[in-house]
Amino acid sequence: MAEPTKVFLDEDDIPTHWYNIVADFPTAPPPHLHPGTKEPLQPGDLAALFPTGLIAQEASVERWIEIPEKVREIYKLWRPAPLHRARRLEAALGTTAKIYYKYEGESPVGSHKTNSAVPQAYYNALEGRMRLTTETGAGQWGSALAFATQIFGQTCDVWQVRNTYEGKPYRRMLMETFGATVTPSPSDRTEAGRALQARFPDTPGSLGMAISEAVEEAAKDPGASYALGSVLNHVVVHQSVIGLEALKQLDKFGEKAPDFLFACAGGGSNLAGIAFPFLRENIAGRASTRIVACEPAAAPSLTQGEYRYDFGDASGMTPLLKMYTLGSEFVPDPVHAGGLRYHGMAPLVSHAYHEGLLEAIAVKQRAAFAAGVEFARAEGIVPASESCHAIAGALDEARRATVEGTSPVILIGVSGSGQLDLPAYSEFLSGNMLDA
Ligand SMILES: *Cc1c(COP(=O)(O)O)cnc(C)c1O
Repeated sequence: MAEPTKVFLDEDDIPTHWYNIVADFPTAPPPHLHPGTKEPLQPGDLAALFPTGLIAQEASVERWIEIPEKVREIYKLWRPAPLHRARRLEAALGTTAKIYYKYEGESPVGSHKTNSAVPQAYYNALEGRMRLTTETGAGQWGSALAFATQIFGQTCDVWQVRNTYEGKPYRRMLMETFGATVTPSPSDRTEAGRALQARFPDTPGSLGMAISEAVEEAAKDPGASYALGSVLNHVVVHQSVIGLEALKQLDKFGEKAPDFLFACAGGGSNLAGIAFPFLRENIAGRASTRIVACEPAAAPSLTQGEYRYDFGDASGMTPLLKMYTLGSEFVPDPVHAGGLRYHGMAPLVSHAYHEGLLEAIAVKQRAAFAAGVEFARAEGIVPASESCHAIAGALDEARRATVEGTSPVILIGVSGSGQLDLPAYSEFLSGNMLDA
């Protein structure tokens, strides 16, 4: 019988529990700190921003956290997500490596972000928090939260980085289609936004600035919560469904753990989501997968940042997080079209990197898009500009294997679809893309 090209799971195979790597780390990750006292954060400190269900997950040391039945039922709209063997890509490369990819682009908004948006909306709704505020860069997270909140009858108020609000209108339209209100950041609607505009006139905006606005707005409104699409522990926990499914699917392909796992890293959530279940195998001594975080050279927090406590936003309103950071006032070069612009990296990913449990590389944007185009032409899927960074890392490894005559198993996390990133592809194809 011919070998399969992709493996599906049944709906019953959607994980019943999220995986929390904190239970398995050899050393405990540093706690978040209160921005005023610099003491470890107490659960109550977050009550103005998050519902207790999510606060408990943020501090949880339990290995398995049950996924509420209602959330699993909504996950069925797009999960389990397929795992593909990239046979046509292997043939196009003429590589001796075996390449697999887990594709998250079939979700309602075309990325992994819905995996966390739905439970975040759910836990808020349980506690009667019917308005959510958030930030978004390219609009992937904002559209995921816009989709999730309307399921539970909540309203959604999104601050979008001004540069992308103006330059990439389609995801704003998607957010509005799902019923969200979208405001370019920095805006006049908040004190933080007005102060940032006074300090940085004509700023293109940044995720850190938009976070400040969304946090301020949520803190002012007792019926509102703030929602973050990456970085925090509870988001990382939600994304573990990706890797838990991929483990089962690789097994169905007859593979044990991959030799290499490549995923792109902005705030770290899709990387953690696919990688931490495999890292658990490494820690337990059952596997030795090399996990490689692929970040953009234009926002290289792991490879160039410092490991220290820093704010999650640009105005110092969020808790202090121990992470690899470029500084909370970091604004990436506006020529950078590849997404992944955040100044810091998820504390759990940062801890794993600091402990030597994963590796990181920085990829320039032309190399990323070149890899994305090769992938698209072979596999028929145009990957999200973010995902292109992971593909670039994987293709380099496949080429190295071919030269060395080895046949490693390479797993790529393809975090989303690039259908709304086509202007960036077009810029690349026309030869006009500057190399940031
Ligand atoms: C948001 C996003 C990312 C970056 O965020 P992480 O938290 O690092 O995963 C990567 N890929 C896609 C498709 C995204 O939407």
